[in-house]
Amino acid sequence: MRVITSVRAMKAAASRLKDAGRTIGLVPTMGYLHRGHLSLVRASKRAADVTVVSIFVNPAQFGPREDLKAYPRDLERDARLLRGEGADILFHPRPGDMYPTGYKTYVEVHELQNKLCGVSRPIHFRGVCTVVLKLFHIVRPDRAFFGQKDAQQAVILRRMVRDLDLDVRVDVRPIVREPDGLALSSRNAYLSPEERRAALVLTRSLKEAKISVSRGERRASAVLARLRARIAAEPPARLDYAAVVDPEELEPLKRIDRRALVALAVFIGRTRLIDNVTVRPGKKESPDKEKAR
Ligand code: AMP
Repeated sequence: MRVITSVRAMKAAASRLKDAGRTIGLVPTMGYLHRGHLSLVRASKRAADVTVVSIFVNPAQFGPREDLKAYPRDLERDARLLRGEGADILFHPRPGDMYPTGYKTYVEVHELQNKLCGVSRPIHFRGVCTVVLKLFHIVRPDRAFFGQKDAQQAVILRRMVRDLDLDVRVDVRPIVREPDGLALSSRNAYLSPEERRAALVLTRSLKEAKISVSRGERRASAVLARLRARIAAEPPARLDYAAVVDPEELEPLKRIDRRALVALAVFIGRTRLIDNVTVRPGKKESPDKEKAR
C-alpha cells in the first residue's frame, strides 16, 4: 500500500491510473478505522481496480465548540488495517495542503444541509461537501463509497453529485453494528463503560420504531413519542433530535405510508451519537396470524 501525504502527489498518481485505464474507488474517512469503514474498503475492492482510502480529519466540518482536537487518531493502526484489507493507496493530506492560507471556497447543498443534524451543526455539511468535492477532484474516483450510518450525508452527497454533473457513482453501504446492535463509530471510543451501555438506547428505540411500523403504526407522531420517551428514560442520554422523514428530501412525514427514514442524534454524556433505520409500512397482520406465532 502506498501512503501519499500531498495533494500534488495524489493528483499525479490518479492521473497515471486514469491514463492506464484503471478504475478508481474512493473511501473517504476521518480515520480511527473500524469494521464499518472496512466494509466500504471491501466494497470498493470488489467494484474498482484501485482502492484509495483517504484519512483526513476535516477541520471545515467541525463547529467551534466541537471535538476537532479530541477526535481520535491512530494512523499506524489504520495503515495496518488497510494493508490487511488490500487497499492500494492511503491518502493522508495535511490540513494546510487541503486548506492553504487564503482558502475561501465552499460548496453548499441548500435546504438539505439545514435539516436534521444541520440544525445543531450548521456548518457541518458545507464542510463535508467541500472536502468530498476536493477529494473527487484530487483522486478522480469512478466510484465513491459512503455508509448509511450518516444517512443525511449520503443524501446530500448524492444531490451534490447530481446537481454538479460529477462523473462519480456514489455507493451507500449498510450500517455495520456491534453484536449488541450499537452502530460502529469512531466516537464510540469516547464512551465510558456506563455510557456504552446507555448508548444502546439508540439501537433499541429505533428497533422498536421499526417493529411498530411493521405492525401497522402509521402516525409519525406516535412513533416519535415512544422514541423520545425511551430516550428520556435513560439518564446519561439527551435527545438532540428524532425525526421521521422522506428519505430523499428529508422532509418530515406525518404519515408513514411509504418508505421513511427514522433518524436520531443523542448525546450520551458529552458524546453525540447518530443512528437511523429505514422503515416501510408492512401489511397489517391478521389477528389469527398474530396468535399463531
Ligand atoms: P467517518 O470516518 O466517520 O467520517 O466515516 C467515513 C465513512 O464511513 C462515512 O461514509 C460513514 O458513513 C462510514 N461509516 C461510519 N460508520 C459506519 C458504520 N457503522 N457502518 C457503515 N459505514 C460507516
